[in-house]
Amino acid sequence: IDKKTFLQIINTLSDNIIANKEILNELDMAIGDADHGSNMARGFSEVKKKLESIKDLEFAIILKTIAMTLISTVGGASGPLYGTAFLKASGAVAGKETLEADDLICIYEAVITGIKQRGQSDKGHKTMLDAIIPAYEAFKSSIESGNDLNTAALKAVEAADEGVEYTKTIKAIKGRASFLGERSIGHADPGATSSYIIIKSIADVIKE
Ligand code: ADP
Ligand code: MG
Ligand code: MG
Repeated sequence: IDKKTFLQIINTLSDNIIANKEILNELDMAIGDADHGSNMARGFSEVKKKLESIKDLEFAIILKTIAMTLISTVGGASGPLYGTAFLKASGAVAGKETLEADDLICIYEAVITGIKQRGQSDKGHKTMLDAIIPAYEAFKSSIESGNDLNTAALKAVEAADEGVEYTKTIKAIKGRASFLGERSIGHADPGATSSYIIIKSIADVIKE
């Protein structure tokens, strides 16, 4: 992944989050406070505005700027969590000028560790991690079995999609939805869905 592709990924995922604002709000209406789409769309609109002025800087600086932008504009539980995710991603690519499959694995690992720490959460808690962790596992095992980046990115999308479906079957342990206990069962987690949108956007750009 070169700089141009990387910037395209950021643009595409921002556009897709913004386009899915209402869907994410509706998911959050069922088990939260109906603002996940608005929160995320606000953050990624800001990211898009900043991107032009930072596009020539190195990956790590771009990711760090995105992190800071999300932390200061998204709000809610997801703002600091996605902020942490991008900050950890930034740390994972320090000094890099292109990104290989192994770098993406490192990014996934840093992101997951960061969200777990920040959110005191894990797989099975009905959060964004239920999309991200399976996506990481599928991506890594696909790369390890010799597949190319495109194939591995598609495997990650499939696994994230299944992860979102899985969140419908479990009760929330973390976040606002946990206040509903058993009543959170039957609904997809909004944060897992926004993570799916991001993972899908990455694959869509890599395929081009
Ligand atoms: P809020 O709940 O404050 O309104 P959002 O609606 O923007 O924030 O985000 C809710 C999403 O954040 C949830 O769907 C879930 O995926 C994620 N989330 C909440 N708490 C945690 C946590 N402790 N760890 C990981 N993800 C979390
Ligand atoms: Mg909410
Ligand atoms: Mg809220």
